[in-house]
Amino acid sequence: MATFNFELSTLPPEAEALRDEVRTFLKQEMAQYRPADRARSWGGFNRDFSRRMGERGWIGMTWPKKYGGHERTALERYVVLEETLAAGAPVSAHWVADRQSGPLLLRFGTEEQRQRFLPRIARGELAFAIGMSEPDSGSDLASVRTRAEKVAGGYKVNGTKIWTSNAHLSEYAIALFRTKVVPDKKHEGLSQFLVDLKSPGISIRPIIDLAGGHHFNEVHFQDCLVPDDMLVGKDGEGWKQVTTELGFERSGPERYLSSLQLVIELIREVARPLLELVARARAGSLDAGGWKSLRMLSLELVDRLGSHARMEEDALVPVVEEILDDDTDLEIWTAHMN
Ligand SMILES: Cc1cc2nc3c(=O)[nH]c(=O)nc-3n(C[C@H](O)[C@H](O)[C@H](O)COP(=O)(O)OP(=O)(O)OC[C@H]3O[C@@H](n4cnc5c(N)ncnc54)[C@H](O)[C@@H]3O)c2cc1C
Repeated sequence: MATFNFELSTLPPEAEALRDEVRTFLKQEMAQYRPADRARSWGGFNRDFSRRMGERGWIGMTWPKKYGGHERTALERYVVLEETLAAGAPVSAHWVADRQSGPLLLRFGTEEQRQRFLPRIARGELAFAIGMSEPDSGSDLASVRTRAEKVAGGYKVNGTKIWTSNAHLSEYAIALFRTKVVPDKKHEGLSQFLVDLKSPGISIRPIIDLAGGHHFNEVHFQDCLVPDDMLVGKDGEGWKQVTTELGFERSGPERYLSSLQLVIELIREVARPLLELVARARAGSLDAGGWKSLRMLSLELVDRLGSHARMEEDALVPVVEEILDDDTDLEIWTAHMN
């Protein structure tokens, strides 16, 4: 059963050609998944699934072949993201590494780091976590206090990261630490590191969410030695690098598509015979309108990131206005609910 209509705007033929292939794969992979599993969407963590995605060349799709990538376009990759999210596939074991850790290493990593990590990520063998937030540094990321002090052979790290999704399941994190305290200039003196999460001096404590789930963690560093060759980019350039990384993180379709399976199940539950037509039309109106606009924004960003064009907010305004003026494609969306 198709669950979402993706013919709302035109992607290049090579990108669209992938769609059937991905759907066929997912239909087989997801046959045994219950709605509750599908609704976990990108929260679902399954190493074997990630390896099979890697075997098909659907991780590291845009990366150079010499690093295990497949040199495909950003929009081809987008189709794979859309289809896996819409199906509620368990992508979490490769998602962060594919989306941002790998691209960060491609951009700022050493040649040795690229050769060591990227092929394994592309094969779906390495899971990465994101070590940015701290107990007193959330939205104000530049105020991070976890200290990485230069010592012989590397950096000695002390401090705490929080909300670290999947740290307990991942091999590595890319973390932002303070290597130098520059008074009144909090954006300076920050650096990024590849952290082996099994290193001595690291303890990972679960944070259980309100639904009883465990994907958040607190990660404590106590005199943890991170070797010199795990510094990513330049010492002190962490702020520029981490904002680039956030660009990779925030441009994809997961922000709106990851709830799709949950919404579909909700509608199935509430839209029983008597209210069916009204409820469907209402839900369709909200979702087709909202998702369509978000998708166009997301596609625009990915296309621009893919072509390394500079993002100019003004350029997006006419695109958004055009979408909002357009009739929402209620009929098509609700047809896929059957
Ligand atoms: C599902 C999920 C997964 C996450 N995974 C990770 C992860 O893997 N790694 C990681 O590092 N982080 C992760 N985070 C953390 C996240 O990215 C943010 O850093 C964090 O949620 C925000 O920090 P905080 O909770 O301290 O909120 P605060 O920064 O304290 O913000 C609280 C509220 O105040 C508002 N606010 C803050 N500053 C201002 C201001 N100056 N003006 C007006 N309003 C303001 C905010 O908008 C917010 O509503 C995750 C978060 C979520 C929800």
